[in-house]
Amino acid sequence: MAAQGSPGTGHSEPPVIFWFRQDLRLEDNPGLRAACASGRPLLAVYILDDETPGAWRMGGAARWWLHHSLKALGRELDKHGQRLLLRSGKAAEIVIRLVEETGAPAVYWNRCYEPYARQRDEQLKKQLKARGVEVRSFNASLLYEPWEILTDQGTPFRVYTAFWKRAQTRGQAPRSETAPRISANRPAVMSERLESWGLLPHKPNWAAGFEPLWRPGEQGAQQRLEQFLREAANDYREARDFPAQAKTSRLSPHLHFGEIGPRQIWHAVQEAVEQGQVQKAAAAKFLAELGWREFSYHLLYHFPSLPEEPLRPEFAHFPWRKSEQDLKRWQHGETGYPLVDAGMRELWRTGWMHNRVRMVVASFLVKDLLLAWQLGEAWFWDTLVDADLANNAASWQWVAGCGADAAPYFRIFNPVLQGEKFDPDGEYVRQWVPELAALPPEYIHKPWEAPREALEKAGVVLGKTYPKPMVDHAIARQRALEAFAQLKELRQAEAVQTRRADERQ
Ligand code: FAD
Repeated sequence: MAAQGSPGTGHSEPPVIFWFRQDLRLEDNPGLRAACASGRPLLAVYILDDETPGAWRMGGAARWWLHHSLKALGRELDKHGQRLLLRSGKAAEIVIRLVEETGAPAVYWNRCYEPYARQRDEQLKKQLKARGVEVRSFNASLLYEPWEILTDQGTPFRVYTAFWKRAQTRGQAPRSETAPRISANRPAVMSERLESWGLLPHKPNWAAGFEPLWRPGEQGAQQRLEQFLREAANDYREARDFPAQAKTSRLSPHLHFGEIGPRQIWHAVQEAVEQGQVQKAAAAKFLAELGWREFSYHLLYHFPSLPEEPLRPEFAHFPWRKSEQDLKRWQHGETGYPLVDAGMRELWRTGWMHNRVRMVVASFLVKDLLLAWQLGEAWFWDTLVDADLANNAASWQWVAGCGADAAPYFRIFNPVLQGEKFDPDGEYVRQWVPELAALPPEYIHKPWEAPREALEKAGVVLGKTYPKPMVDHAIARQRALEAFAQLKELRQAEAVQTRRADERQ
């Protein structure tokens, strides 16, 4: 085979195909490293597949990110005399076609954990093996494989603390690897043009606000990590809940696209601790958040219907309301609750929202408006640059109270109190809801309580320049409690069972 050469590559030897997926980086990329070490020419490909994911086709904001990330990856490969091949269509079919075109004897990739990706990969592996093609897959995106951390009974964990405790008994994550030596090879295989994929919005360009904030790509991810360790990590424990302070890492989109891997972050944090740059307790808190990411993937792997169905089956019968109009007001940040509106507008303008505010807006949708969590999950999917099937689904289920380790149903975030606690001067609200900017801090989270003179002075006319609250939180809270109470008995019985199971660990 090798002696015959390869018709499509313009190279004397058939290549090994490395299929880039959610691992858009050169460093700490075990699949790419193995492909480069094979001694064969490399053929690096990215496939835009809008068919296989079905309803979970990549959303709008993530497509913006993908465009820039692929551009950055292409530039990096170019420096090594390599080319990133672009193809679109059903990924499994395209890989087979590429094997046929090039005579590649091997295909390598890093694993994905979305149910549709797992199913696709399993089938593709069989098809390729049947053709005598070597297939290897690797772990590039998790500290621990989802099947490695199990209870003593060999079952998946359903409670985060028990999961993370067990995960840590496995010791340090393996060291991350530097970029492999990539030898030059520009295969003469047809590549589509990135611009032809139409990933960027225009008319209107709703992503204009993304540009100054983000730098997609491996270098941008490294910069973001370094900046976080230098400027914010030490305050992380105390400041991470305050949305006006930029004290979280904002690594989530970089992590989602695999421009940086959790092993790299883990070791960079450990080094910063060893060098006295970051305190141990702050580091542990930050790494525990990476632990939530691991836990979400653990849940998605063991409960593949996580994005669609409540983990607690009794929630399938929950009496959700239906109101297109209420959903729109929430999506557009016009609920009349300043913190909720600030969050929804930050999301629209930047493709990202602070975690504290994500919890508040999600609770508002599900509990104050009694709209199904799946509606919020879908909106986030389309608007977040870090839209991630595992994290998004697990988080929405957590807030809705129907997830594995869910917030209890009676935990209904009060958007006013949350604002007063975590945005005490109203700085965050002022930034994203400028029509309220001139209100004094004592009214910024509840403008309907402001005296007429204060409203006039600030130029606020409720119902005109800024909406009146679309629901009364106290009444909505009561309505939610009554709806959730219908499920209470079942939930209590289930909670006792779960606790007993976890106590046996
Ligand atoms: P940091 O605080 O710096 O944390 C570091 C990393 O840890 C994050 O980048 C992320 O990868 C991980 N992480 C942090 N918090 C969580 C968490 N609660 N669950 C899982 N992983 C976490 N995160 C996504 O990456 N994609 C999503 O689609 C997503 N949807 C969410 C939906 C809802 C309703 C809620 C409440 C949370 C959601 N999250 C999601 C989790 C969390 O809000 C974001 O990961 C976080 O805000 C990203 O900001 P950061 O990178 O500055 O986080």
